[in-house]
Amino acid sequence: MEFQAHQIKDILKIDYRYTMGGQSKFFIELMNNKKLLGTKCTKCGKIWMPPRINCSECYKPAKWVEMKQTGTIEVSTIVWYTTSAFIKAIPYGIGFIRLDGADTAMLQGIFSESLIPSKVKKGKKVRAVFQKEREGKMTDFFFVPEDEYESWITKPEYEGVQNERS
Ligand SMILES: [Zn+2]
Repeated sequence: MEFQAHQIKDILKIDYRYTMGGQSKFFIELMNNKKLLGTKCTKCGKIWMPPRINCSECYKPAKWVEMKQTGTIEVSTIVWYTTSAFIKAIPYGIGFIRLDGADTAMLQGIFSESLIPSKVKKGKKVRAVFQKEREGKMTDFFFVPEDEYESWITKPEYEGVQNERS
């Protein structure tokens, strides 16, 4: 006899909160002020982005520093299969981006109006674009090729940083 799974329809609902701990300041400044904060080691001066509370090389505390919102793609790929949260964005790029002045690179989405691999490849300059409705999450911002920046920030759901020109 062929296997038949017996299924019962049910709903699982869980309300919970989680904390960003020592990195909370990054998410608060992102949400409230569209700032991208990294940290700088108080001993060796290494600038961590994404921020680390303590330097991973000399284990000394690091202090918050505001980063530029422009950077360079170090490695990237184009995403065709993703979770429900990003399904409408397919295809899009993701990559490790080293912000100008940072010593490390952060993983983030790279969107383009005309996505072709050469637009999001290693060495390309990108700039951060912010959601107008921010929640203090990594999805509050993404990167776009620098030459598309002005176009992205005029879209109704996104915005840039008015008083910063780097
Ligand atoms: Zn250090």
